[in-house]
Amino acid sequence: MAAASAEELVRRLRTTFESGRTRDLDWRREQLAALSQMLRDNEEDLLAALAQDLGKPRWEAWAGDIAASASEADHLRKKLGGWAKDTGIRVPIAFRPARAAITYQPRGVVLVIAPWNYPVYLLATPLAAALAAGNAVVCKPSELAPATSALITRLAGEYLDPQAITFVEGGVEETTDLLAQKWDHILYTGNGTVGRVVAAAAARHLTPTTLELGGKSPAIVHKDANLKQAASRIAFAKWSNAGQTCIAVDHVWVHHDVHDELVERLATEIRERYGDDPRQSADFGRIVNERHAERVKALLDGGGYDEVAVGGQVDVAARYIAPTVVTGVKPDAALMGEEIFGPVLPVLGFDDLSEPIAHINASDHPLALYVFSRRNGDHVLDRTTSGGACVNDTMLHIFPPDLPFGGVGESGYGAYHGKWGFETFSHRRSIYRRPGFFVESALTKAPYTAIKERVARFVY
Ligand code: NAD
Repeated sequence: MAAASAEELVRRLRTTFESGRTRDLDWRREQLAALSQMLRDNEEDLLAALAQDLGKPRWEAWAGDIAASASEADHLRKKLGGWAKDTGIRVPIAFRPARAAITYQPRGVVLVIAPWNYPVYLLATPLAAALAAGNAVVCKPSELAPATSALITRLAGEYLDPQAITFVEGGVEETTDLLAQKWDHILYTGNGTVGRVVAAAAARHLTPTTLELGGKSPAIVHKDANLKQAASRIAFAKWSNAGQTCIAVDHVWVHHDVHDELVERLATEIRERYGDDPRQSADFGRIVNERHAERVKALLDGGGYDEVAVGGQVDVAARYIAPTVVTGVKPDAALMGEEIFGPVLPVLGFDDLSEPIAHINASDHPLALYVFSRRNGDHVLDRTTSGGACVNDTMLHIFPPDLPFGGVGESGYGAYHGKWGFETFSHRRSIYRRPGFFVESALTKAPYTAIKERVARFVY
């Protein structure tokens, strides 16, 4: 896409937006229903594209990309009528008679930029939020999931209103051209380096942005945890989608007293889930491309730990990295430097909860934080921050429909999902209505005499 056509695209969508077409609540509901239908009608093709791009196991692709997106669109469709109503605000006596209200206006023409790891969900859910709020939308799928990008772009053209919703495929060049335009909101999901590029481009036009970024999300397993449960839930978060999930467990801190038992249980979880050779399992995914496989291999090769307790096999050409557990990891190991975003789980021991807490507070704020403990969940939550958190579970905080999803600090800013997505893509306009028939108040009119000041002091 040349810069000129990006400009033309935005102009065309702005004309649609200004016609009022997208503000209509029925239009919004129709588009959300069409989005949900599009995902359900084309489930098999989408599953095939996700398998091609990421070797995504069928169940994970269905649950994490298709069902989760369709149910978000359905939830927004059912609720948006209530959210879109004006909210009345009490007017202090000094300013009466008058009424005040918040009205929700769509922001206008918005841009959604998605990554490759959940290439349907991370495009369809922000799109659904933008539609629920009544915007015209441009979606930019990730070029690193090319089969899904091509399919979803074609389907969007068939199912959604082409006058108001456009998908633009491409990579850095196309995204750069899009970012040069003036948008009314940008929601970007991906890494923090590009997040800064997006924020800088948005700043030129003072465009509000939502940055959904990543980071190293830790799990802490205390000695009073249910270890079987902890191992199972950590396994789910670490090895689904081969660890390429923004809220995956990046690494585990475990109390020394239960360290060996947890590692054993993690090994059991891997065997039960993927068999003796996970490479043969239809339920274990692949790394998105060779470059990322090389990157994860380099972290593993970087040392700074005692041993590879489970797994460790890597075949870069096949984009395969085995579910791996690494023990005796030092805080300065390569694996502890950047977000792993792959199926390698470093395990660090601690004697006192203050150790992982100090490490978390000295690091970038994570997108998610998981604590496994019968009694110390709140102790950890009260002393740390993160985008979201679970006590005795992993990842499921993403699902309750109206729980805001977003990061803090390096893991991003702004949030969406359910009502929060509607809020993100809406402008809260403050309206103050005065009846026309009342006499003008003399108080605000100069000359400001002593008597006016006395009355003003009394009524305020
Ligand atoms: P990616 O490489 O697909 O990039 C994301 C988007 O940015 C793509 O659409 C891409 O075309 C665009 N892009 C890439 N380089 C660009 C540039 N120089 N200028 C403009 N646009 C550019 O995905 P990724 O960044 O590798 O995604 C993985 C990261 O995203 C991880 O850090 C992960 O934690 C994070 N993530 C966060 C969430 C969340 O909801 N918070 C969800 C998924 C992934």
